[in-house]
Amino acid sequence: MEENSPYDLLKKLFPLCRSLTGDGNRETLRIIQELIPLKVAEIPSGSEVFDWTVPQEWNIRDAWIKDSRGNTIVDFRNNNLHVMGYSAAVDQKIPLEELQQHLYSLPQLPDAIPYITSYYKERWGFCLPHRLRENLQSGDYFVYIDSEYKAGYLTYGECYLPGEEAREILLSTYICHPSLANDNLSGVVVTVFLVKWLLSLPRRYSYRILFIPETIGSIAYLHSHLAEMKEKTVAGFVLTCCGDTGGFSYLSSRNGNTLSDRAVRHVLKHKVGKFTEYTFLERGSDERQFCSPGVDLPVGSLMRSKYGTFPQYHNSLDNLEFVHAQALEETLAMYREVLSAIELNRTYQIKTLCEPRLGKYGLYPSVSTPKTIDEIRIINNLVAYLDGKKDLLAVAETIGSYILDCFPVIAQLLEKSLIKEIGTEGSLGKVSG
Ligand code: ZN
Repeated sequence: MEENSPYDLLKKLFPLCRSLTGDGNRETLRIIQELIPLKVAEIPSGSEVFDWTVPQEWNIRDAWIKDSRGNTIVDFRNNNLHVMGYSAAVDQKIPLEELQQHLYSLPQLPDAIPYITSYYKERWGFCLPHRLRENLQSGDYFVYIDSEYKAGYLTYGECYLPGEEAREILLSTYICHPSLANDNLSGVVVTVFLVKWLLSLPRRYSYRILFIPETIGSIAYLHSHLAEMKEKTVAGFVLTCCGDTGGFSYLSSRNGNTLSDRAVRHVLKHKVGKFTEYTFLERGSDERQFCSPGVDLPVGSLMRSKYGTFPQYHNSLDNLEFVHAQALEETLAMYREVLSAIELNRTYQIKTLCEPRLGKYGLYPSVSTPKTIDEIRIINNLVAYLDGKKDLLAVAETIGSYILDCFPVIAQLLEKSLIKEIGTEGSLGKVSG
């Protein structure tokens, strides 16, 4: 069955137990494959990738805590957040004092189950609401985790959409969080629906779209694709936290003034006005790898409320109620605007010396309606600023008009042969053949 909206897909993916590796990730990618052409790839455990090693594959089947009378206290089947991610197996009877050393809860959010992982140190643990933990009676408890580590694989998904040009836009999202809706199923489902939209359009740029586990996934992917990505990538985004009803925010690339940064600032300024901007000092997701020194890709992150800024962050309150269908649609629409702005951004030069006589070309209507007044303002400003040096994004910014409103005028000016495009052709220009 096809999921028809980002929210439907999010609901379907929500219960799966994802992690850095394992069958929950494979199942997540399999469901996404029903919607978009996704290639699933696997990197063996133990692979050395730059300074890191791909960890063993982790899978979990069952886990619970029971009291001495056999009453279930916590059950993994009710919520996969109950088990610390990458927990070792355990099957023991232990007193409460010892159990306490393996429990995690949030005193400030007594009804929430925290999301805790231990990827690179072998231990076991349970996460539970603080209120439940405080009510535990002294005595013995049975703890059971049926999990295993094995030499397996890190699984990721990749979708490549060829465009007119070999130059690329990178979209990356992470699939390693279990039942957490905003961070980051919201990013996953918005990415899927962006791909569906891109598939329906003629594309100038090619698109490289990644569904990877955070950090180790981007490092492992960069390890085998860095040279071509450095050569081809003109813009890129990490999609995360796309589904709460907070205002838009943007975390810029390390450079701070790449095409990605300029496009998002321009779109947000014209579409929403007020938004929060974070510098790279407040980074937290895969832009840390994509923008690292020597990698230097132009990658930022357009979000709603940034991870870490909302109380539901990394606990069970980041659930299907916290994310709204409408918010997902709005974020999807905003990414479509940003990608459209980048697709349309070219450098043009006016061909006449002094102003062209617009009336001669039918570009100066005799009847002035509010719409035509606005259009005339854009025409007059564009012919005054298209000097072949600044790109359209920069010109639109200077003249205070939205790039997508400038484009119909650009199309007219091109049709009347009043402007010409200044080539960006290099070794990465149009794909031949
Ligand atoms: Zn997270």
